[in-house]
Amino acid sequence: MKNIVILVLIVLVVGGYFYNRDNGLDVTPESVEISTIPETAKGPEIPQDKGYLVEEINDGLYWLTDGTYQMMFLVTSFGVIVVDAPPSIGENILVAIAEVTDNPITHVIYSHHHADHIAAANLYPANAVYLAHNDTATMINRSQNDGREFPFGTFVGGGDVPKPNVTFNTNYVLISGGQRVNLTYLGTNHSPGNILIYAPQQKVAMIVDVIFPGWVPFMDLAVSDDVNGYLAAHDQILAFDFDTLIAGHLTRLGTKEDVELQKEYLSDIKANATTALQEVDLMAVAEETGFENQWALFGTYLDEVNQQCADLTLGKWATRLGGAPEFTKSQCARIAESLRIN
Ligand SMILES: [Zn+2]
Repeated sequence: MKNIVILVLIVLVVGGYFYNRDNGLDVTPESVEISTIPETAKGPEIPQDKGYLVEEINDGLYWLTDGTYQMMFLVTSFGVIVVDAPPSIGENILVAIAEVTDNPITHVIYSHHHADHIAAANLYPANAVYLAHNDTATMINRSQNDGREFPFGTFVGGGDVPKPNVTFNTNYVLISGGQRVNLTYLGTNHSPGNILIYAPQQKVAMIVDVIFPGWVPFMDLAVSDDVNGYLAAHDQILAFDFDTLIAGHLTRLGTKEDVELQKEYLSDIKANATTALQEVDLMAVAEETGFENQWALFGTYLDEVNQQCADLTLGKWATRLGGAPEFTKSQCARIAESLRIN
């Protein structure tokens, strides 16, 4: 009986393979094309027994990472100021802080409102001070569970978070227990309310989901709300006097050189998207698609623009930044669309 079951399973698996192969569907995982990342996209080893790495950058300022998400905390003479709470690190945030200090968490800063960076904040003490930009507070109030079908954090972990009780519009200076952080709003970029957190004593800047040290941005310009604000953020960040950048992702810390490099990559994309918009001929595409199905016409035309922009860009960038072959076409699409309509 057991042998018959095994035989049936083999027939199903092998039969399925030949069925899919004959229909042109290659279902083996090796068929996914994955580009090789450069050495500069690699970060420090994450201790596998712990699942996180915590390191002092200097003068009581620590970064904490699981190899994909990053956050920071600052030890003061009587407390701890934390920035963000990625649910992928989750309970390990408290374990990592306890590794370096017994001081209680007194202040929590939200970099922006996205659940993948803050939805574990319900781990923090309810009586801490919660700081955020006004727009972040508005978004958090809007996203907390009011009977929605998929509550805040459902797809990334965590859940509802304590609401900000100190908010600001342009600048805020937090001084506590001998430490200082300046919070600055640069305007909408990746999201409304996304702030730059700057520790002048340590020369550390943190801004999340804008710069990706060693990598191209996440797809679609890091799913930014405002393309022009996102591009302008590069010079705004460079105006701060910092040695170390905590970017929220991905593998390692950054420097000003990483900001410069990403700025150059995106300015190449802007130039190449402009060229593609000038060269790809809408009427030539229409000869292939006709005019009746207008979405087919525009879909084909824009895909040709984005593909030409990506081809022009990857000659220089395919091996210089991690993930360039995977996400460059999507960056081209966002920038070309912004050039067309903004
Ligand atoms: Zn985000």
